[in-house]
Amino acid sequence: MADLVDSLRDELAGIAAAKRYRRRRVVEVIDPAIPVYIRVEGRECVNFCSNDYLGLATHAEVRRAMCAAAERYGAGSGAAHLVTGHTAEHHALEEELAGFVGRERALLFSTGYMANLGIASALLKRGDAVFEDRLNHASLIDAGLASGANFSRYAHTDVTGLEQELAATPARRKLVMSDGVFSMDGDIAPLSELAEVCTQQQAILMIDDAHGFGVLGHQGQGSIHAAGLSAAQVPIYMATLGKAAGVSGAFVAGSNELIEILIQKARTYVYTTATPPAVAAATRAALRLLQHESWRRERLQQLIRRFRSGAQQLGLQLMNSMTAIQPVLLGTEAAALAASESLLNAGFLVSAIRPPTVPAGTARLRITLSAAHSDADVDHLLDALNLLPRTAA
Ligand SMILES: *Cc1c(COP(=O)(O)O)cnc(C)c1O
Repeated sequence: MADLVDSLRDELAGIAAAKRYRRRRVVEVIDPAIPVYIRVEGRECVNFCSNDYLGLATHAEVRRAMCAAAERYGAGSGAAHLVTGHTAEHHALEEELAGFVGRERALLFSTGYMANLGIASALLKRGDAVFEDRLNHASLIDAGLASGANFSRYAHTDVTGLEQELAATPARRKLVMSDGVFSMDGDIAPLSELAEVCTQQQAILMIDDAHGFGVLGHQGQGSIHAAGLSAAQVPIYMATLGKAAGVSGAFVAGSNELIEILIQKARTYVYTTATPPAVAAATRAALRLLQHESWRRERLQQLIRRFRSGAQQLGLQLMNSMTAIQPVLLGTEAAALAASESLLNAGFLVSAIRPPTVPAGTARLRITLSAAHSDADVDHLLDALNLLPRTAA
């Protein structure tokens, strides 16, 4: 036992020496009516790193729906979906999600990470091939690696490179997995081009729309809807419910047959407890708000434009993102960490993103905007960014 503790301590010292040590901060919501103001270890600040893009996580109707369902069903589901965990709330949410994104069926998973692992494990086996954008979310990468299929990555958004790889593979089943909106860069995948190449090369296209669902599309139906692509072009649509929808969990939407196969074979679906029914009820309330309150999306877009034009005037190095994820490139890990620290001292919570999450030399601040921010919040953040020491990125 002492040996284990010693070796873990050495390993931790190595992580700290490499400046890769990660720590959690304990946060509190101050007033649910203004969710972007939080207390971080005693210090009040404006949150610029939440994925609650529409401000729904603390919405009164969502909270009420969760409480009412907890009163009715209890706190937990008590079992997996295939046993007795699948309540009327879960079932209704699945039907509403399927209708909303225009697919035959939808299936709930407890987390997005589990949904991605479940899709790849149910659809792929040895001898099949999976292709992923180099900047895909870690859960997609892990899903592809764990599937046992031949795994390859193409350069970020390089559809031509992907096409060559697809043409060269002898595999019978070919699955292409991509983020819809890339989580660290905020750019949107070349969806139409991906769909075209996949159709030509008889590959299956799966899009993980964790950061597009709720934000993109006329009513928030996500990136595929916004790009005008059909269910035939993108047969597997996955999105999470803990970001713009403000609650927790994820879903996969597609054909009846896809959903049935996932129910039979996705191990991260079968062998886990269903999320609490109250979570499903809260998500149903959030889904209604997300659809009908388009002003939240419009407000978010206004703030994105305000931030980008302000940052451009200050000469900050932005990335090619028109979404709520607005990275500011700083280059070195030390610069990103120092910037995040001084912003916190100035009252702004902004995360520093560094390798291995992003490629070496591209450490950055990852600013996320929310419809719940005010114009003044964004302006004050820009003022604080302007006071940071400038480094050559
Ligand atoms: C957050 C995220 C996930 C994981 O979803 P969770 O529900 O948090 O497990 C998957 N894919 C992408 C692109 C994400 O950003």
